[in-house]
Amino acid sequence: MTHERETATVTGDRSRADVLARLARMTDPGTDDLTRTLDARAALDRLSGPALLVDLDGTILDVNDQVDGIGVDRALIRGRALWSAPIWANGDASSTLSPLVEAGAEGRAGQRTIDIGGAAPRPGRVSLTPVIDDSRSVAVLLVELRGLADSRETDALIQATTQALAAAEDIFRAVAEHTSDLVCLHDPTGTFTYVSPSCRRLLDIDPASLLGTHPVEVAHTNTRDALVQAIHDAGRRGSEPTRFRHRLRHRNGSFRWFETAITPILEPGGAVRQLQSSSRDITEQRETEQSLIKQAFHDELTGLPNRALLIDRMTHALAASERSNQPIGVLFIDLDGFKTINDTLGHPVGDTALTKVAERLTAIVRPGDTLARIGGDEFLMLCAGTDGARGATAVARRILDAFAQPFVLEGREIEIGASIGIATSMGSEDPDRIIENADTAMYEAKHEGRGRFAIHNETDQSLALERIDTEEALRRAVHNNELRLHYQPELDLESGRIVGFEALVRWQRPDGRLVPPGEFIPLAEETGIIVDLGRWVIAEACRQASLWRVYRTPEQEPVRIWVNLSARQLGDPDLVPFVERTVEAAGISTDEICLEITESALMDDAQAATEQLDELRRIGISLGIDDFGTGWSQFAYLQRLPLDVLKIDRSFVSGLASDHAAATIVAAIIDLAHALGLIVIAEGVESEDQLAVLRELDCDQALGFLFSEPREPAAFDHALNSN
Ligand code: C2E
Ligand code: MG
Ligand code: MG
Repeated sequence: MTHERETATVTGDRSRADVLARLARMTDPGTDDLTRTLDARAALDRLSGPALLVDLDGTILDVNDQVDGIGVDRALIRGRALWSAPIWANGDASSTLSPLVEAGAEGRAGQRTIDIGGAAPRPGRVSLTPVIDDSRSVAVLLVELRGLADSRETDALIQATTQALAAAEDIFRAVAEHTSDLVCLHDPTGTFTYVSPSCRRLLDIDPASLLGTHPVEVAHTNTRDALVQAIHDAGRRGSEPTRFRHRLRHRNGSFRWFETAITPILEPGGAVRQLQSSSRDITEQRETEQSLIKQAFHDELTGLPNRALLIDRMTHALAASERSNQPIGVLFIDLDGFKTINDTLGHPVGDTALTKVAERLTAIVRPGDTLARIGGDEFLMLCAGTDGARGATAVARRILDAFAQPFVLEGREIEIGASIGIATSMGSEDPDRIIENADTAMYEAKHEGRGRFAIHNETDQSLALERIDTEEALRRAVHNNELRLHYQPELDLESGRIVGFEALVRWQRPDGRLVPPGEFIPLAEETGIIVDLGRWVIAEACRQASLWRVYRTPEQEPVRIWVNLSARQLGDPDLVPFVERTVEAAGISTDEICLEITESALMDDAQAATEQLDELRRIGISLGIDDFGTGWSQFAYLQRLPLDVLKIDRSFVSGLASDHAAATIVAAIIDLAHALGLIVIAEGVESEDQLAVLRELDCDQALGFLFSEPREPAAFDHALNSN
């Protein structure tokens, strides 16, 4: 059945037409139930008198606040048939009202006179308006109650409601006296007029002492505004309670959290007579919530923000950075050699180390910056604000400085290093992407030799491509015979003779460039090419050893060739058989080839390394520690590993003649090595002064530019001949 929308809307003024238009949306298929209900409710509330919304069968869908004014409980009305709602004086009003509803469902408006109100019945008028929707069907029926303007009736009504209010207050007090919540009455400004006895238990305050005071006097400063605002809102909100969370002071000075609802008690005319508040102590609940929030956003071990919280902070910082045009900086901090601590000292010590690292880093965080732990030994720092990006490098320097001091773990001093990657962004980027960039930069820092920082930049893309090219070329180099071994002689300090050589690889590129190992060994290690490359080096060194045999008389000690071994090679299960086969194929013996490994390589996987080294030693290969003193200051492994030689790092040797501390360290290393039965070789000797000190300190052997740079093997034929 269709009708003209006009029939419904002509009855009222402009705003009434608006109300009806909004009610018509009740049947819109596009809106959800909640929106529809809220919308209808808002429309009903705009009518000045009591009004109900009824469906075409007469079931009450909703009522407005003004219905309270006739002294009926709204909660009892909703869902009932219009005629059986407790609004009408004579109980069932179906004989009067159902014909009205039937006519409305047909699209006809109508009115009836009927007695309203249970306690004090009075004549009233019901008018019904069908609400027509867009498809011109009747959507719902609007029922309005009118005709109560007679002053006698109004008085009666006011009296009835006042009585109802007084009765309600009695009930309220009865409840309030026994509830565990804090229940209070306030005058419209908020001043306490009644405070329930539970106040004593909740706040240890005598309820009577609060009467005449204002709640702000016991409120926490941080939540005082919320309280004042809530009291203000409650006075304007009709009968809807205003809910908020705030803190109140306990007599012992601590603060408890409360969830409070303030409801106004209205005069029949609608003015606020008083306010009623009920407050539930939610301190424990809040603590649980807070700890759950903390768990969700913090790392359990260190208490630092986790990745999720960091991403959130980054998102805010990026938005701010876009507005202010100030880039943010992100530092990716990765500990060097942390795995070793875990593996050798156990996880509990590892955890302690991480906690100490977190403390040290926290001391560096500037106000407004965020430090987060995002994985095992990975930390991220967000530098935002005006000095975000530029500050990041300064912060990185401070972090590296802070890590220069050893950490004390289990009473021992342990060095923990850090490598840092920095990325910056202006706000257009995705936080994950920025973290990835910082991570990439961190790897660069690691490859440049730990304990540094590197900055990610846009040219990275092209660097990555170049890297792929280099990787391809390096793979080919091994098979295309582009690698060369240069040799650096090792001298015995007592006899002055050449006792050995260190084999150092170079890459002779087809364009004629001779590339030093520092430029391609890290890439080879990272890509695994080192295994093939290393085999080539071992084979080539064996071949050279057999060639040099001609310069040796039978009674002479063999000249030994030292080959550098990478950590990755120790992980190659075929390493020992390969060495054995290669030595045999070259027709030399295992005491002519020696292998040297850096401290840090040993530390990468100490267990596997020990097993491989034991095996190598078993087949007669001598083993040495390279760059001693730059790795990990823990000497226990020296005893455990089957070592023969210890090579003091160049960095100590270079300071020998001038720096007293360096001389002390070298003296200690030499003593230590000798005590363990190891031969000591000093690396990088460049001056006669250094040599003199080394002799004095009883160092066994040395190599360095003072004697010779690494050269092609033929350069030493003559020297060996006259050795
Ligand atoms: P390393 O094993 O510590 O080798 C010593 C490095 O110090 C060599 O650099 C050598 O040329 C340099 N050097 C020697 N005497 C002096 C000196 O008096 N003053 C100065 N300033 N430097 C001196 P090189 O040849 O560039 O090798 C660098 C590193 O590359 C080596 O350090 C080693 O770790 C690695 N490497 C070289 N060849 C191989 C190889 O075949 N396999 C592996 N895995 N690594 C290798
Ligand atoms: Mg070496
Ligand atoms: Mg070295």
